[in-house]
Amino acid sequence: MATATSLSLAQAPGAATGSLPSLGDNSELSAAAERRIGDRIAVSIYRDPDYLDDPVLGDYLQNIWQPLMAAARARGELNAELDERFSWEVFLVRDRSVNAFALPGGYFGVHLGLIASVSNADELAAVLAHELSHVTQRHISRLMTQQNRQAPWMIAAMVLGALAASKNPNAASAAIVGGQAVAVQNQLNFSRDMEREADRVGFGVMTDAGFASRGVASMFEKLQQASQLNDNGSFPYLRSHPLTTERIAEAQSRLQLDAKASAKPSRQSESEAGKARVLHAMMALRARILAGPGVDALRSMVAEAQRRPASLPLLQSPATAANIRDAGALYGGALAATQLRDFAGARTLLARLKPAVAEIPTASHALGLLSIEIDLLAGVVPPSASSFDMAKATARADVLTQGRALMAAQRAREVSGRLQTWVASHPKDAAAWQLLAAAYGNQNQTVRSIRAEAESRAAQLDYAAALDRLKAAQAFMRSNPASADYVEGSIIDTRTRQIELVLKEQALQDKVDR
Ligand SMILES: [Zn+2]
Repeated sequence: MATATSLSLAQAPGAATGSLPSLGDNSELSAAAERRIGDRIAVSIYRDPDYLDDPVLGDYLQNIWQPLMAAARARGELNAELDERFSWEVFLVRDRSVNAFALPGGYFGVHLGLIASVSNADELAAVLAHELSHVTQRHISRLMTQQNRQAPWMIAAMVLGALAASKNPNAASAAIVGGQAVAVQNQLNFSRDMEREADRVGFGVMTDAGFASRGVASMFEKLQQASQLNDNGSFPYLRSHPLTTERIAEAQSRLQLDAKASAKPSRQSESEAGKARVLHAMMALRARILAGPGVDALRSMVAEAQRRPASLPLLQSPATAANIRDAGALYGGALAATQLRDFAGARTLLARLKPAVAEIPTASHALGLLSIEIDLLAGVVPPSASSFDMAKATARADVLTQGRALMAAQRAREVSGRLQTWVASHPKDAAAWQLLAAAYGNQNQTVRSIRAEAESRAAQLDYAAALDRLKAAQAFMRSNPASADYVEGSIIDTRTRQIELVLKEQALQDKVDR
């Protein structure tokens, strides 16, 4: 089989590749070529049922990710070309195992299990900065270059196979056929030098971004304990980034140096850090619950929350560790009750938490959003929806969650107004396009609604489906002349031509790749 041959050929990294014409030869894979491979992988990920777009956890991650990106830019680790060419998109994976990974083209995956098990945002930043550095240092590109005898679609398939294997250890043999598994794993693993470089660069990035460097140490400790405790596959991160005593020793000496030169201004004051820990406790529980722990676990989370003190003290900094745990448990209990469709129980738990976090804006905000989620799932119009000003929605979770609340309150026009400007600045936000499609649909603006659906498909790189929707919009206009909308019509024509071109280019590229 051709694939088996090319796999074994590629097993000699660094060896002269001979005179056969191939795409990359020995030179580094271009950023554009790496992005194309990444996009192929992303298309499959967007369709994976474990791909999760949770706006609340998404915003939480972005608040960690964006400072890391800014620090990488400022330090010159992230150059302008990569910044522009790559997607720099972080997505959530509904998986309880502790893992995060970087993919070609600047896509990053974060398992819910990682968010659920880290103790604070600093630990999460430590892992993300390490993964970010694998990409900015072109480690992935070097791994891919070693595969340069293979068609990009084959590399994409290998990465997807390795990903499936890392998600569920039992599925490994099913995902990758037979003996290829070992070859794939070996080829996609970073070298020891790459790990050390990602540790070093990642440390600089996270501390420059203002995260506490002790996050690295506590993360290493956590992973080390885990490696001693079990090898049951719940820590795939450990397998892909083996902790050597050397790496740990280097991290420790880096920490000591950092402590000596800790003139660096911390991102947060002590009181802010305390508030951040309350939010983190809530988000960790959210991640645990969205990972789908099963009915029994949800019930015990509700029971756990009910055992907490009937009234919590006002959580001000420094909140005690017990207070932080209580806050997390109450938020988790309310969300767990929601998932069990016990909406009254959920509201009771939320009401107990609300006064305690009154002085912590981020936590209060998360509570407000959960309250809307509960109402929407219960089929009730959220009380805030009658007065909320969509123009004030700036965070993505607000735009999407409040948007859905306003739709329930028959305020679709305000929703489409806000979303139009949102998608103009976030054209890759598939969920926003989808909500916009619903908002237009509510106002009987069928053509605009279908176009928004098309954009939602294009945002997830499903260009064939996007083209299908655009053609449907054109057909609708032809058969309903009254619906003709000159401006929208010409946008649709332009987008149709653009997407047809993309599809043509992809077909050509496929030929070249093979
Ligand atoms: Zn690594």
